[in-house]
Amino acid sequence: MGTERDGAVRGDGKARGSGVRRGAVGAIVAVVLALLTGCGMGSRSNGSDSYEAARLRMVETQLRARGIADPKVLRAMETVPRHELVPESLRDAAYDDRPLPIGAGQTISQPYIVAAMSEALALSGDERVLEIGTGSGYQAAVLAEMGVRVYSIELVPELAERARRDLTRLGYEGVEVRQGDGYRGWPEHAPFDAIIVTAAPEEVPPALVEQLAMGGRMAIPVGTYSQDLVLLRKRPEGIERRLLMPVRFVPMRSESE
Ligand code: SAH
Repeated sequence: MGTERDGAVRGDGKARGSGVRRGAVGAIVAVVLALLTGCGMGSRSNGSDSYEAARLRMVETQLRARGIADPKVLRAMETVPRHELVPESLRDAAYDDRPLPIGAGQTISQPYIVAAMSEALALSGDERVLEIGTGSGYQAAVLAEMGVRVYSIELVPELAERARRDLTRLGYEGVEVRQGDGYRGWPEHAPFDAIIVTAAPEEVPPALVEQLAMGGRMAIPVGTYSQDLVLLRKRPEGIERRLLMPVRFVPMRSESE
């Protein structure tokens, strides 16, 4: 999975290596789980919307089967109506195992990447989280569903406006969206317990490190063509850095570009 680099969809948040690493066992587990959820669907599909079955299947086959275990993340992604945050013409593909275009040359991340980044932040539910790159608002909605307060910055005015409208429509009051340049962070609300960056800068922006609370975590893709998703933790001794996986996000641009 996920090794293509030149598809029509710019591979924002597309994992490049996870399938290779998880290997055949993961694939078998995924198939078995798909069959199991397929069997159980009749009893669960009388829920809130017609995409619920697809959403639950996505959580089983793309998340649980690949090792996502944080119950808060899994529950949130079983709940957030991803199909409400993609263009109407792509609704039936909303729960597919890939990123999708959302307009203005941008993409909504692949569900697995949203889950992996959310899990990496190790949230307990009462934190304040800064997101850079609101895009569709899906990642922000997942975090809000986990109970945290979200401050999200989007560079493109039309996307910021649309995400704000959609998040309000869906009842996510715990998210504040601002149009602006994420390189500067949001100093008025700092420090943040966690920061999630969903566009890739060449280097970690210093303002974001500054606005991270002591002990705070930051999940951020770093690089240009080849990017690494890294998890930073701010400690009194300095910044601890852990490599999570290779990814491909849209570039983080600055306001002048
Ligand atoms: N988190 C999003 C996906 C983000 S795609 C979701 O769940 O749908 C990356 C987004 O980052 C794009 O919308 C892009 O416009 C935005 N972006 C790029 N550079 C930025 C910057 N400097 N500051 C804020 N947002 C930026």
